Amino acid sequence: MLYRKVQQKSKEERKLDMQFIIWIIVIALIVYLFSVMWPLFIFLAIALAVWKAYEFYYYRSSAFMEIKQSINNYINDCNELNSHIENLKHTGLLSARTDYGDASYQDSSKWNFQRKHLKDQKYAPNVHNCSRTVCDNARKKPFEYVCKYFGIKATEETLSTFENALNNIEAAEEGKRHLQAEKDKILDSITADIPTLIKKFSKKKLERNLGFEQIDMSTAYFPKYIFKYVSSGGNASTHCDVVMDVDNLNRFVLFLSEKIKFNKSIAGQRALMTSKLRQHIKERDAFTCKQCGASIQQEPNLLLEIDHIVPVSKGGLTTEDNLQTLCWRCNRSKGAKI
Ligand SMILES: [Zn+2]
Repeated sequence: MLYRKVQQKSKEERKLDMQFIIWIIVIALIVYLFSVMWPLFIFLAIALAVWKAYEFYYYRSSAFMEIKQSINNYINDCNELNSHIENLKHTGLLSARTDYGDASYQDSSKWNFQRKHLKDQKYAPNVHNCSRTVCDNARKKPFEYVCKYFGIKATEETLSTFENALNNIEAAEEGKRHLQAEKDKILDSITADIPTLIKKFSKKKLERNLGFEQIDMSTAYFPKYIFKYVSSGGNASTHCDVVMDVDNLNRFVLFLSEKIKFNKSIAGQRALMTSKLRQHIKERDAFTCKQCGASIQQEPNLLLEIDHIVPVSKGGLTTEDNLQTLCWRCNRSKGAKI
């Protein structure tokens, strides 16, 4: 034990020595390069300063302000859609977490007996710590295991929750694409008035200065159910992530409905709110908002959503006659009223 401690220390010391040597070499190289090529460095520094000054004055010039003013309404519309999409992304999924208490946790073991993974355990509702067998089997039957270990019961209510999540997540994914296309269209419309240098080297800054909020195109927001196994020594660990993306949610809705039908519930009387049905309703309504009449003929990048005329919370069923196409603006204001 003592021997191991000594060995550990000398290893760390050696590592530090190496770092020190590398730093010395790097500094010496920089000094050498500078002494030989200092005129180049000064030239680059001046060029950078001139460019920054140009950028600074361009974004404050009246020419730029005029361009910004001319597309102001479109930018605001884009940003509103962006925040709508961000809201849609925050649709949580179910998990039978009934204990919402908080507790502190200390590991007072001697350093050699500490288990790092226990220290990392934080509040994470959709993580199930389990045996290796459970973790392996979850990969083969992900939905069965998600239901079993996260306490998801096959009921009409659960089904509606997941249908709603699918609805929102799919709308968010669609919305991101439409938003990007709309943004590109707006930028295209002013491209002739923007100096080439700015377009080439200051693209991000240009978008920011025009007032566009950044669009988060990542898919990291998809809810996950995680099965995690860590051996008691902490050396072996596996995890199985069931990511609820659009594909998986569609399949999960079918999976749940199969289970409910088996239990002879009311699921048979209504349709399943899947991507397919959403598409069907949009086609039936000729891709036109039933409330304000906006359509993709007028606005090619319009985000259309499917709405329950009588909401599910008030007993409305997912039947074709209770579904309609609304644009995202109308759907959002209807949601706010309810
Ligand atoms: Zn509308």
